[in-house]
Amino acid sequence: MYFFTKGVKRKLSKYDYLIVGSGLFGAVFAQQMTASGKTCLVVEKRDHLGGNIYCRNVEGITVHEYGAHIFHTSDKKVWDYVNQFVAFNHYINSPIANYKGEIYNLPFNMNTFSKMWGIKTPAEAKAKIEEQKAQITGEPKNLEEQAISLVGRDIYQKLIKGYTEKQWGRDCKELPAFIIKRLPVRYTYDNNYFNDRYQGIPEGGYNLLTEQLLKGCDIRLNVDFLQEKEPLSSLADKIVYTGTIDSYFDYQFGALEYRSVRFESEVLNEENHQGVAVVNYTDRETPYTRVIEHKHFEFGTQPKTVVTKEYSADWKLGDEPYYPVNDEKNQQVYAQYAALAAKEPDVIFGGRLAEYKYYDMDKVIASALRAAEKELAVR
Ligand code: FAD
Ligand code: UDP
Repeated sequence: MYFFTKGVKRKLSKYDYLIVGSGLFGAVFAQQMTASGKTCLVVEKRDHLGGNIYCRNVEGITVHEYGAHIFHTSDKKVWDYVNQFVAFNHYINSPIANYKGEIYNLPFNMNTFSKMWGIKTPAEAKAKIEEQKAQITGEPKNLEEQAISLVGRDIYQKLIKGYTEKQWGRDCKELPAFIIKRLPVRYTYDNNYFNDRYQGIPEGGYNLLTEQLLKGCDIRLNVDFLQEKEPLSSLADKIVYTGTIDSYFDYQFGALEYRSVRFESEVLNEENHQGVAVVNYTDRETPYTRVIEHKHFEFGTQPKTVVTKEYSADWKLGDEPYYPVNDEKNQQVYAQYAALAAKEPDVIFGGRLAEYKYYDMDKVIASALRAAEKELAVR
């Protein structure tokens, strides 16, 4: 906001930017602006900073409060960017699957195939999968067909069907094929869950990264922007909004849908509970999808351990939104909100909630860096 006295343009607002939400998008944008000499006020409705990467210290163990977060990227610019603020350890995600007590390596690789079929070579594994996918002809129409054509019927039945139906609350025949394509399928003995060039967990936890990014900003916790829209907006020239886009526009086209997750954590009086950070329970009957043992992200040797069971849950308005349901119906509603957002020149909408996208952390950082660059180019 500006005013003119004696023909001279003067700044009226206290800050250059009001940043709504202190998750990665808001924090990276704020860091870029502060580094360029701009002033930022960050408002956050939770009682802590960091959005979903927030961690809590329990018994000397860093606990990922909103689900396991493993940083992985092939984007060197993003990797160099985060490494300016915090060092990353050498953690490589190698989860295992527990199907009714049988243990398999993930992602689907020669270790998985060998255990499933007692075979040894890639040629034997390929022959087995070819035989099991023979009934699927043409382009896979849904997740079930896609999964069987990638890894065969046995792996689909034991490692995919139950887990996926628990996670998404729907039959695999009603889910889009692309979901399963996130996972690598490898004919090598390699248990690395990701194909990305860079991977790790910030030493000292993600909170350290957040604190570094928000250095130099004014911060107000426990403030819901939507409850105080007018007075807060008047404090800055421009707003960066990272909350849900439908709430910003008063749900005028209806609420966008999400899948939610419920976390149940406990401290156990033992040093090493499951021997690995992530165990997926791939049968339909076990009510949770996975169990996280947090200390293994940092090679912890504390006398106790913290484990978290993750239950996938239906979502209703008021619950914490986790995974956007990017089906056709929701994408159409989102498009209506995005058209309204485009008409607000003084508001930048960014991050997983405002863009209604299932973004990994590296993609959110890249998006915030692009938004900041664009902004600095016009200012
Ligand atoms: P958020 O982190 O959600 O931040 C938005 C912030 O805005 C929140 O703090 C919120 O409280 C605040 N806010 C919202 N509305 C308002 C309002 N009206 N007023 C004030 N404040 C408001 N990515 C990976 O790369 N690797 C992983 O292993 C991984 N695991 C994940 C596991 C789970 C269970 C989930 C859900 C996500 C995972 N992700 C992972 C994705 C990762 O969490 C996101 O990419 C990233 O945290 C998104 O940052 P953001 O700033 O867009 O959103
Ligand atoms: N998946 C599965 N079995 C597993 C792990 C994953 O069938 O043990 C499927 C499931 O459909 C999931 C998809 O693969 O939604 C993508 O898995 P990823 O781990 O990338 O899921 P995220 O939790 O990161 O969305």
